[in-house]
Amino acid sequence: VNDFNEKLSSIVGRENVIVDLSSRKQLSKDFYWYSPVLTDMLDDKIADYIVKPSNEEEIKGILSIAVQNKIPVTVRGAGTGNYGQIIPMDGGILIDTTRMNRIIQIEDGSIRVEPGVKLGLIEKKLREGNQELCIYPSTFIKATAGGFVSGGSGGIGSISWGNLWDGNVLELRVLTMEENPRVLTVKGEEMMNYIHSYGTTGILTEVVFRTTKRVEWKQCIASFSNLENSLIFSEKIAKDSTIKKRSISTCEWPIPSYFQPLEKVIEPDKHIVILEVEDHSFELVKSLVSEHEGTVTYEIPPSNYQKGIRLSDFTWNHTTLWALRANEKMTYLQGSFSLDSYLEQIKLIKEKYKDEFYNHFDWMRSNGEIIPQQIPLVRYKTKEHLSEMISFCESIGVKIFDPHTNLLDKGGWEAYIDSVVQKKNENDPYGLLNPGKIGVVTDLVKG
Ligand code: FAD
Repeated sequence: VNDFNEKLSSIVGRENVIVDLSSRKQLSKDFYWYSPVLTDMLDDKIADYIVKPSNEEEIKGILSIAVQNKIPVTVRGAGTGNYGQIIPMDGGILIDTTRMNRIIQIEDGSIRVEPGVKLGLIEKKLREGNQELCIYPSTFIKATAGGFVSGGSGGIGSISWGNLWDGNVLELRVLTMEENPRVLTVKGEEMMNYIHSYGTTGILTEVVFRTTKRVEWKQCIASFSNLENSLIFSEKIAKDSTIKKRSISTCEWPIPSYFQPLEKVIEPDKHIVILEVEDHSFELVKSLVSEHEGTVTYEIPPSNYQKGIRLSDFTWNHTTLWALRANEKMTYLQGSFSLDSYLEQIKLIKEKYKDEFYNHFDWMRSNGEIIPQQIPLVRYKTKEHLSEMISFCESIGVKIFDPHTNLLDKGGWEAYIDSVVQKKNENDPYGLLNPGKIGVVTDLVKG
């Protein structure tokens, strides 16, 4: 063990190999605890070494000795993933990329970065130069470029630009898990073998994101007494191509009651829509709010955008976080509802599950289609009850992406899994990269 430690130290420097137990425990975790199912399963997993390289050459060196010694390697960015993606199932080395934090090049329409750069910094630099990211997760202040591409999906901006795989990643530089790691430049369709693949097919050393022209965003909250009105209003904004928007998040009461920092502006029993819209469309948005019997109850001007209170901190999976902070025995699901029948779908769910299911939509657009996507809060009873709820949702046409599994192919990625496994075999012939995260591979190993 000491010998191996020496080898790692000779590559990255002694101060960048972490072996003490409490740091290893802490860095081996992400937000898997959102799920009671994953908590039971993953609580005791821990890396043997945490290594913090500062450049691609150092990662090559780490991979090379890991392959020689058949030691598993997992990568971590900021560790904000929700499905235990960075949790090393078989110990081994956890590569922390946060020292690889250089912005390499900004061009009109793109930005090239190292994997450990925080998305918040990328967005800040872009806005200073009159551009912005097309999409970023609500965790952007902490989350890294490599972690978003390998573990995330979409977020703020997805209502206009779709998910990661809708053209928002332009190029990747990837290292393979071989004794002599190859450097690959990956573009186009081939990127589907790396995007949202939990770092099982290669290690990203550079990411190129699509960027767009900076917009002056106004944030606001519209409140409604009637849930259906709040949803029809949200749908109208989502569909209206004359209104530029970055985010539409619809939360059924009592979800807004969990948003502690917004306490003063949340009205009891009101369902809310959290919006980011272009400043000069705001008057139009306001008139649409009134048309749907709602009221704008909070506004943040563009001059305070991404400063102080950020309304994105109450959207996407942040919504779940506030409920957990309020000590609610809640967990969550992720699902795509149908645009032509989502009102009927939520009626059926409410009839069956009542206050065990609270609607939270983050509207998005993928392949040109508007999708009423949800991260609903659900009351947790047992694993079986949760599975039954998932089955019920699917029986009425809601596509659920199960967040209570650490397996890529069980969490909604089954359509891509054959291609990902083929790429994994090519790039990682000994199955050492983030092992235990692909169900079909794990089943094969178990025999
Ligand atoms: P990590 O958690 O560190 O890693 C994620 C995955 O990427 C892991 O499998 C890891 O092994 C792999 N990885 C990291 N770096 C590399 C690399 N260089 N090469 C290969 N593999 C790598 N996600 C969304 O998509 N949208 C949201 O709006 C969103 N909101 C969230 C809100 C909250 C409150 C929380 C807790 C999570 C949310 N997430 C969301 C999930 C997560 O925050 C994001 O996906 C985030 O971008 C992950 O970045 P990270 O740096 O923390 O990645």
